[in-house]
Amino acid sequence: MSRTDRTLAQGRQGTLQAPWQRAAAGANLLGADGRLDVTIFEEITTLAVRTGAINLGQGFPDEDGPDVMAEAARDAIASGANQYAPGKGIPALRDAIAAHQQRFYGLDLDPEDQIVVTTGATEAIAAALLALTGPGDEVLTFEPFYDSYGAVIGLSGATHTTSPLVAPDFHPDLDALEAAVSDRTRVILVNNPHNPMGSVFTHTELTRIVELAHRHDAVIITDEVYEHLTFGVQHVPVATLPGAAERTLTISSAGKTFSFTGWKVGWVSGPPELVAAVRTVKQFLSYSSGTPFQAAVAAGLAMDDAFYGGISSTLQAKRDILADGLRTAGLEVFLPEGTYFINVDTAPLGVTDATALARRLPELVGVAAIPVPVFCHPEGAERTKSLLRFAFCKRPEVLEEAAARLAQLKDRL
Ligand code: PMP
Ligand code: GLN
Repeated sequence: MSRTDRTLAQGRQGTLQAPWQRAAAGANLLGADGRLDVTIFEEITTLAVRTGAINLGQGFPDEDGPDVMAEAARDAIASGANQYAPGKGIPALRDAIAAHQQRFYGLDLDPEDQIVVTTGATEAIAAALLALTGPGDEVLTFEPFYDSYGAVIGLSGATHTTSPLVAPDFHPDLDALEAAVSDRTRVILVNNPHNPMGSVFTHTELTRIVELAHRHDAVIITDEVYEHLTFGVQHVPVATLPGAAERTLTISSAGKTFSFTGWKVGWVSGPPELVAAVRTVKQFLSYSSGTPFQAAVAAGLAMDDAFYGGISSTLQAKRDILADGLRTAGLEVFLPEGTYFINVDTAPLGVTDATALARRLPELVGVAAIPVPVFCHPEGAERTKSLLRFAFCKRPEVLEEAAARLAQLKDRL
């Protein structure tokens, strides 16, 4: 029996090893190098608040999402949707997620057993990794990687392997990827569009990932929270590629699409057996959460094409304001194809350590940003040591002001 079949069978029989046993057996929350005690987002946001800096670090919008959704949440509270939601999510939201996947990607999902609602994408990632991996398994991510991946792979006891995203466009190096995947690779964890690098993987790149997953019998977990935030390039969900759906768990979240990051409503979809495995673990993480917000997100997912089209055009204009400002400040700008993050190289200003700079930047010029090396293991951190990530999901006037402040950076270093 192949490993995937084995996992599927385990999911069916409900005999996956209990996650708490695995965590107890060697949880290492801090990852290989143990650098972080609070997340970088928490650290930089705290610093920005203390110094009164414009916070372009942690990625959250400074304007709330659609009024109709806020109203739907208020209505849900007023009408008594205030007790536990079912573990897999309220039926209206699972139906709306299935309809969204059909409408945008032509994917057919049964809301009963192919979708589970989670406490943000963060819980979806944790539940999927804890369900499917453990000591002796490898989980491959691209590097840089979103910080929770390293933490949860550590918690699961699996080994975290990486394959680099390469400047200047930060797409995968397919030869390096092929060399990094082996029969030990249990999961290929994809993040597309990519945080922090802003790349949107091509059809060819994704096809190669699927081929490698087949060849080595790996499961693909794909974090597509920025699915609607792309600029002139098309987002291709991994699950739409031939032969992918049967071994792919797709994760998304209402936080990015609808600008309600604090609601923490996410979801996972995929084949019933893999989704059952995620659900098994998820019961012991949060069981369920955000009943009235689930109702509001269901309303949001059904919004018209004008709403969805508007997300990226509004963001693209913001991207361009900040990109101009960063260039004027003397930084090398890597223009993102997706997400709301833009990366710069600070080396042209003579900076060699972006992490040290990020800790000084709020005092220096009154702007906060995230250093890219914190999304890397030591070797990748060396490659990205002078890179900084800025979030541009802010009002245009805020971005203009940040740009004006950053123009002073060269003189203040
Ligand atoms: N994955 C990626 C790539 C993210 O950038 C984020 C948050 N910005 C998450 C997951 C977490 O999403 P949520 O807030 O829905 O938990
Ligand atoms: N995902 C957000 C970012 O990349 C931060 C979310 C968090 O603070 N955990 O900035």
